[in-house]
Amino acid sequence: MFSIVRYAVVLLLLSGCISQPQQANSSLLDESLLLHNIQLVDVEAGKLVQNKMVLIEQGKITAVLPATERSKYKNMQQLDGQSQYLIPALWDMHVHFEGRNLVEDNALLLPVYLAYGITAVRDSAGNLAPTVLEWRSEIAAGKRLGPRIFTAGQKFEGIDSLWDGDLEIGNQQDLLAGMEKLKQMQVDFIKITENTLQPELYLDTIREARRQGFLVSSHIPVGATIKQLAEAGLSSIEHASYLLRLGFADEAEIAAAVRNGTMTNADAYAHYKQGFDQHLAIYGYQMLARQQVAVTPTLIGGRQLAYLAETDHSKDQFLQYLTADFTDNYQWRIGRMAGETEAQTAERQQQYQLIAKQLPYLEQAGVLLLAGSDSAALNTYVYPAQALHDELELFQQAGLTPAQILRTATINGATFMGVQADYGSIAANKQADLLLLPANPLQDINAVRTIDTLIYGGKVYNRQALDKLLQQAAERKAELTLKRGRS
Ligand SMILES: [Zn+2]
Repeated sequence: MFSIVRYAVVLLLLSGCISQPQQANSSLLDESLLLHNIQLVDVEAGKLVQNKMVLIEQGKITAVLPATERSKYKNMQQLDGQSQYLIPALWDMHVHFEGRNLVEDNALLLPVYLAYGITAVRDSAGNLAPTVLEWRSEIAAGKRLGPRIFTAGQKFEGIDSLWDGDLEIGNQQDLLAGMEKLKQMQVDFIKITENTLQPELYLDTIREARRQGFLVSSHIPVGATIKQLAEAGLSSIEHASYLLRLGFADEAEIAAAVRNGTMTNADAYAHYKQGFDQHLAIYGYQMLARQQVAVTPTLIGGRQLAYLAETDHSKDQFLQYLTADFTDNYQWRIGRMAGETEAQTAERQQQYQLIAKQLPYLEQAGVLLLAGSDSAALNTYVYPAQALHDELELFQQAGLTPAQILRTATINGATFMGVQADYGSIAANKQADLLLLPANPLQDINAVRTIDTLIYGGKVYNRQALDKLLQQAAERKAELTLKRGRS
């Protein structure tokens, strides 16, 4: 029964594109879909493959076939790709679901991810862990519409950290108890940040998480070097801004001075603002590649802040999906930047450009790059879902090729999570999480902004169906606004 519902949806959503055979073998009709007349994008090779068809059964790709064999499948339900570009759907490898008062506000955005072609997100922790775990199971069970969720649950921090919802630890015993709690939650990876967590315990947390078989993603504390973290087993560095430290010959001395208390964190941050050596940094990136440490650059957040003063966000289309309670949080960073001088803004912009410039060097060094938006209520004008498209455009401006960029948002994410056998490219036995794009993403990555069709969870969503998801999100936002008496 379930399978009939699946492709019955196809027939309702697609007008004219799908052809139903006259006398169909019913089991084939119900279970299978042949996608033909496509230009298949091989993301791993970074090239187009012509004259192929994709056979999808029960939500999985069961074969990639030569187009010449189409007559063999004439009794099967077919979808004409109209010569469009077929790519694996996108993964956003750094998002946050946060805000104790924003559960419904975040929930309404889950289908919006699908409308933007994003079928998997890596939640890098927030203060809604139990809710996110529920969403993860509901989505996996087909009871809620949204992207597949990989979550860190709660992140590790030191005592009295700045952030809400952390697992605060002050010693080994806390660390082990925290690991136990996260294991109970069945988190998909471990996240660590550096606000108050002490360097030694920070390194111990990485080692312990790896010992227990988890991937570990993290910021970089000033009291430890990037090499120390890499050698402790770090799996991914979040935010390329930290990597600039690799361009300083005295990184180890600074870290030691912070650790033994002869230098403050603030002085260390100030030190890292001048004297960056690109050659030294490249040498550091080669070390990261050798140690198999991935990097999620998250450029868009820094970019939005650096150009905040000169950008009018008041008419941004995406605001139709965000409640005022959600965007209220934007004021936190805006307020912190309020007194910034022109010189400070210029410095912020230069810093942003220097960080962006590192991407081609990282790619050349062989570092696994992950596309992640860092979208979160607390991250000003980093809009959920849309920010991933923005991030990819920034990767292109930074000098990565469209093929390299496409990998960061597809196969690289799956590879990082260790699920590349099931996701991330168009091949037999992988999930049929697919997008049809009218324009060639290997020429311009902005092609991902225009999605004609999404295939996900055994269902086909044409443009009309995707627009319907967006419209429902806007309506839901309006309902919440009315209910709360806000404007
Ligand atoms: Zn983040």
